[in-house]
Amino acid sequence: MTTAQTLLKVEGLKKHYPIHGGIWGRRVGEVRAVDDVSFSVRTGETLGIVGESGCGKSTTGRAILRLEEPTAGDIRFEGTSLLSLGVEAMRRMRRELQMVFQDPFASLNPRKTAGAIIEEPLRVHGIGDANERKQQVKELLQVVGLDSYHAERYPHQFSGGQRQRIGIARALAVRPKLIVADEPVSALDVSIQSQVLNLLEDLQESFDLTYLFIAHDLSVVRHISDRVGVMYLGRMVELADRDELYNNPIHPYTQALLSAVPVPDPDAKRERIILKGDVPSPRNPPAGCAFHTRCPHVMDICRKVRPEFTDQGGGHFAACHLTG
Ligand code: SF4
Repeated sequence: MTTAQTLLKVEGLKKHYPIHGGIWGRRVGEVRAVDDVSFSVRTGETLGIVGESGCGKSTTGRAILRLEEPTAGDIRFEGTSLLSLGVEAMRRMRRELQMVFQDPFASLNPRKTAGAIIEEPLRVHGIGDANERKQQVKELLQVVGLDSYHAERYPHQFSGGQRQRIGIARALAVRPKLIVADEPVSALDVSIQSQVLNLLEDLQESFDLTYLFIAHDLSVVRHISDRVGVMYLGRMVELADRDELYNNPIHPYTQALLSAVPVPDPDAKRERIILKGDVPSPRNPPAGCAFHTRCPHVMDICRKVRPEFTDQGGGHFAACHLTG
């Protein structure tokens, strides 16, 4: 269900990593992992963010939760500027914003039982006494499709899909409003992916969740998202309602990405657009439109002037000189 209310507003977000070199270890450059990204997430929706590896989508998610400290920009959650919060206030705020990570094995402490892992955020936020927390852990295990006896087991005793269910239960424990899910199914077998996606959809309904869903797989993002944003080289290049984006992509990069996705209807012909060259390095991004080195429609202006990310009508945003 989507509503018009904004839960999260990201404006001009940047995350640059300094590069040090030479014998003095001086700063010799920077990697612009996220370079001036703006979007908002509405209460109750799933906003998908898609793009190739290295486009900055995961860094964007981590920067929103301040797991990576942003270089610049503003992040407002229910109107509160997260970047203005001190350490303690941000720690309390994390009750509202949780993250589900890509690799459930790496993100779960191998020396802790599933029960202890799920209980941890409850303890950190001082929720309930030991018995109440134990009861909540049991309920959470059931909510994500596991059994209460699983609380005593260790991460290596679970399958990949079960481990991701534990990661989801841990995120859910403090009843957050927003979950940033960073490639939550990409490490799983295809047969398991849809089970975890369906679980996330069910939980969204029953726990009134809002998702920022980050993935490289366009089919996965299409399945779960209400709106979809496309990132390229640290920038958002297009954002629209899901069906609008998939049926009527404006940006040449989105058009190329979508042309590679199999179409379910065998009569529907879609010509594959093969992009030339590799993604340039975010250490030295091209001037003007960052996509100009690979764009089949490149014009002179594209090499010099960065296109604005503007609403092309009906909330369909794109950054391309072809559309003005
Ligand atoms: Fe291509 Fe120019 Fe549009 Fe960039 S601005 S996507 S280079 S046409």
